[in-house]
Amino acid sequence: VLVAFGIFAMTSFLEEIQQQLKQDSLIDPLTGLFNRRGLQEAVAASLAYVKRHQHTGALLMIDIDHFKSINDQWGHDIGDHVLFEVAQSLKRQLRQSDILARVGGEEFLIFLPMIDKAEAQLTAERLLASIIQVKLADLPQSYLLTISIGISMTTADYDLELQRAQADHALYQAKHLGRNRIEF
Ligand code: GH3
Ligand code: MG
Ligand code: MG
Repeated sequence: VLVAFGIFAMTSFLEEIQQQLKQDSLIDPLTGLFNRRGLQEAVAASLAYVKRHQHTGALLMIDIDHFKSINDQWGHDIGDHVLFEVAQSLKRQLRQSDILARVGGEEFLIFLPMIDKAEAQLTAERLLASIIQVKLADLPQSYLLTISIGISMTTADYDLELQRAQADHALYQAKHLGRNRIEF
């Protein structure tokens, strides 16, 4: 009985560690959002659902404007804190079924399932407005934090890589056209 119990305890201990490792490899420790790998898995599942219902979904690529100057002026730790605040603010604007990830230093990706272009536009506008209103205790009150958003709608064959490239291109346009704006 003792041996059996020992094996049982060891097995559940290992399972717990495995679960933890799996979670660690999918989650960004700074913000608690999905990382790039977590996003990949979550979006693949969500996209399959959208495809099955022959609906559309939107991919939003977000990059903080002039983020480097925050690091340069106030230091990397405050930069990290701003990243955390931005992540929380984005999260507050989204639904449970939306997928939000931090995919690069100061870049975020969002997948919005089962919505059309007009709804994607409205959501993105809400995100822009919410970021401008974020209270950043570490920065002067006059500092206006903004983001730029590139959006692509699901493609005819629901090709995630193609959709991502299109969102990337749209983000580049948004930066080029002056930042703090949305481009499709
Ligand atoms: P742009 O408006 O063109 O996006 O200007 P930008 O200054 O934001 O330029 P870019 O997006 O290229 O800058 C990214 C900067 O983000 C570079 C790096 O210093 C900073 N960064 C990347 N990862 C982290 C991080 O984890 N923490 C902090 N504090 N800074 C980071
Ligand atoms: Mg960037
Ligand atoms: Mg940036």
